Amino acid sequence: MPELPEVETVVRLIRPRLTGRKMIGARFSVPRQLRPQTPDSVRRAVRCQVVSRVQRRGKYILIDLDKGTLLVHLRMTGRLYVRSSGKPHDAHERAFFDLDDGCTLVLNDSRTLGTIRYFSKKKLPAQIQRLGWEPLEETPGPDQVRDIFRRRTLAIKPLLLDQSLWAGIGNIYASEILWDATINPQKRASQLTREEIRRLIDSVPRILRHALECGGTTLRNFADPDGKSGSYQDEFRVYGRDGETCLRCGGVIVRIVQAQRSTYYCKKCQKMRQNICGKEKGEIV
Ligand SMILES: [Zn+2]
Repeated sequence: MPELPEVETVVRLIRPRLTGRKMIGARFSVPRQLRPQTPDSVRRAVRCQVVSRVQRRGKYILIDLDKGTLLVHLRMTGRLYVRSSGKPHDAHERAFFDLDDGCTLVLNDSRTLGTIRYFSKKKLPAQIQRLGWEPLEETPGPDQVRDIFRRRTLAIKPLLLDQSLWAGIGNIYASEILWDATINPQKRASQLTREEIRRLIDSVPRILRHALECGGTTLRNFADPDGKSGSYQDEFRVYGRDGETCLRCGGVIVRIVQAQRSTYYCKKCQKMRQNICGKEKGEIV
């Protein structure tokens, strides 16, 4: 699933090709992706509107028009790109926004889980309002994070996927961030020490920024709109490296499952000193 660095890569590539362009039509082959809206209502809404801005919030892409915003979420396999009209269609292209320069904004999505919604200018969509800190722009203070974590008994790894904390972190970067911060992914958020919280606050933007510089991660599905691949998978410290050696301490990387998702960490340098989530009582922060 594309996370913040992959979505930001997409936004940076499509922004110059969309800004200032007028939408002259739209077509959708999977109406479900627009629910609860319909292909007709979205087509009518966007028609003749000019793109004023393209931005990202968390993992959402916001395409601002004169009177409203198109909100796109790529989910598992979505790719968003602008292509020239002459190019042949790919079988997985699902949604098309025709532009006044002859190009088309396309949602390519093999599993069709991606979503598109249109919102009028007046209201910020609830999905966006719920999002937390924007990791590359906002740095919360340690006390602020600690106050929130104090109330959360969830282990820190699944908690990092909660978009109401830092928006944009997904399963891959959550493991990478915790390795960088030397925090055991099973430790309860409420039991992180001050020092661990400080390291976490540092690691979140550092890892995401580095991944963005690499153009994101390409595993199975992500490719940027020009068809190029990101290279952050070459920088993985723990993700997918179970059984391999930790590049920091020489320990063994292991894979566990938390909340039905894979987590990777080093058994040695990210060892739980105490407070195994759900098994032991915690320390005082
Ligand atoms: Zn290690």
